[in-house]
Amino acid sequence: MPLEKAFWEKKSLQDMNTEEWEALCDGCAKCCLHKFIDDDESEEAKPTDVINAGETIVYTNISCHLLNTKSCECTAYQTRTALVPDCVKLTKDNLKDIFFMPPSCAYRLLYEGKALPDWHPLLNKGKKAAMHKAGQSVRNKTISENDVDLESFEHFIVTWPLDTP
Ligand code: SF4
Ligand code: SF4
Repeated sequence: MPLEKAFWEKKSLQDMNTEEWEALCDGCAKCCLHKFIDDDESEEAKPTDVINAGETIVYTNISCHLLNTKSCECTAYQTRTALVPDCVKLTKDNLKDIFFMPPSCAYRLLYEGKALPDWHPLLNKGKKAAMHKAGQSVRNKTISENDVDLESFEHFIVTWPLDTP
């Protein structure tokens, strides 16, 4: 069934059907980057399960080994959560955990009552070219986790995933 025009302006995230929910993802793949919590106190970076006051998310440009870094698509989308236990699968039931998504994430934007950016594929006939051109995807900016020592993650910290859309 074709998507209703501008459905994201008429429906809440909770009211979207599966097709609408999936279409909302811009395919930027920023959520496929390794990220950590920085609390200014402990020496070690912590995984992003929860975040407390005073803590911030730190992104790296280290990408999941299953990511096609050119198309910014997962090479095992259907089985991703089984293959990569840390893979973030955003659903209506874990929206409260959306803090670990980048500020440009379409789900986070709508959750925070903001509009989709003009480069979003839904506003560009389903094409991702405008998003790539705006520098809002991970294309040409990453290194695979297979090619780095994750213990040295601090050498790969980047701020561009936190850019506002
Ligand atoms: S950050 Fe959000 S919009 Fe971008 S690929 Fe991940 S889920 Fe989709
Ligand atoms: S399994 Fe796929 S969707 Fe999940 S982090 Fe890796 S590349 Fe991204």
